Amino acid sequence: LIDLSRLNTTSISTDHQIASVGLGAHWGEVFNYLDPFNVTVLGIRIPRVGVGGLILGGGISHFTSEYGMVADTLKNVEVVLADGPILTANPEEDFDLFWALKGGGSNFGIATRFGLATVPIKNIWFQSTLYAPDQAFAILEAFAAWQGGDDLKGPTIIALTPAYYIVGLVYAAPIEKPPTFAPFYEKSILQPAVPSTIGTVASLREIIGRNQPKAPLRYVKVNVELYREVYSFWLRKATEVNAAAGANMTFVVQHISKNAFEVGNKNGGNPLRISVDIIPVWTSVMDWTQESEDELVRSVGIETTAKWREAGKATGSEVPFIYMNDASTDQDPLASYPATGVARLKAIAIKFDRSGIFQTLKKGGFL
Ligand SMILES: Cc1cc2nc3c(=O)[nH]c(=O)nc-3n(C[C@H](O)[C@H](O)[C@H](O)COP(=O)(O)OP(=O)(O)OC[C@H]3O[C@@H](n4cnc5c(N)ncnc54)[C@H](O)[C@@H]3O)c2cc1C
Repeated sequence: LIDLSRLNTTSISTDHQIASVGLGAHWGEVFNYLDPFNVTVLGIRIPRVGVGGLILGGGISHFTSEYGMVADTLKNVEVVLADGPILTANPEEDFDLFWALKGGGSNFGIATRFGLATVPIKNIWFQSTLYAPDQAFAILEAFAAWQGGDDLKGPTIIALTPAYYIVGLVYAAPIEKPPTFAPFYEKSILQPAVPSTIGTVASLREIIGRNQPKAPLRYVKVNVELYREVYSFWLRKATEVNAAAGANMTFVVQHISKNAFEVGNKNGGNPLRISVDIIPVWTSVMDWTQESEDELVRSVGIETTAKWREAGKATGSEVPFIYMNDASTDQDPLASYPATGVARLKAIAIKFDRSGIFQTLKKGGFL
């Protein structure tokens, strides 16, 4: 085990354009550090998660629709190779390694420092609302309607549980109740979870949810019929398993815009390169207490994933893409990335790690 948690400092360039972030930092510390400079970086939506794994797998941020994946904002990466040398990969030097580190996983060395482009975002609007269970289809419809819009400043995540539904809205400018989220405003709410707030990026991260284990995931094209069908399937399973094992689960749908992938391509490309329209991302968080119930609880995620695939194929809505950072250990995200890119990743791994340390002694990069 290599403990790198003390490599956790953050600094900013004199022109405030690049933040230099140590791999041991947590995202919350990074946002707090940058707040007084009136800039931020793209990063995770939950503060206590680490910097390294998120960036190396790509990274979906609140601001990804406009600025791309977190890895697309990289300017340079300091890497310690398996046999000892330390180098800084950037668009001019060791570009192949730099490209691989933008979403190709932890397959090439230990990345000890990330130079991230800052974005001029400080004050933003956000709110989070609870809806009653009878609003499930209405929320899925509102989500699909919102996905049809083209305002890149407004990402949203919906999380449905058997007991209530929660919709988190974030707008990357200090504009209260921006029109892009109109499909949600007209639904009848149970209660506000976080009231309509103009706050900072740092303050948003402080109030966002808990860290929980995750299940497999699936991607499809926007299709509200499909959302309804798979949600109904999941609700039946989740309710049964809740009764049998007391497990709590959520049905979470996020969103990656087409623009996010286009920005990635403009910024030199990345291994995730896919060319489709918007991608809704389904994942699930689950918590339970008894180890003996592991298989039963996981079966809800696995069967719902299979349902997305089957129903997605039947309606021509399946997107064969699995995002590494949310993938379950029994999934193979790289098999869903462009084959030429995966071949390139393998060649780069051999070039920088001849003995394959990062595929054999240290696993987790799916290569
Ligand atoms: C509560 C929660 C919320 C999340 N929210 C988001 C989100 O908003 N957006 C998103 O895109 N993803 C999200 N994720 C997924 C997250 O991106 C992945 O779990 C990611 O792996 C976390 O990075 P880490 O460094 O904390 O993980 P770790 O488990 O520490 O690392 C993951 C893998 O990468 C390797 N690794 C880590 N750092 C380095 C490094 N510097 N150099 C080389 N190898 C390294 C590790 O050895 C391991 O194999 C979330 C996860 C959780 C648990």
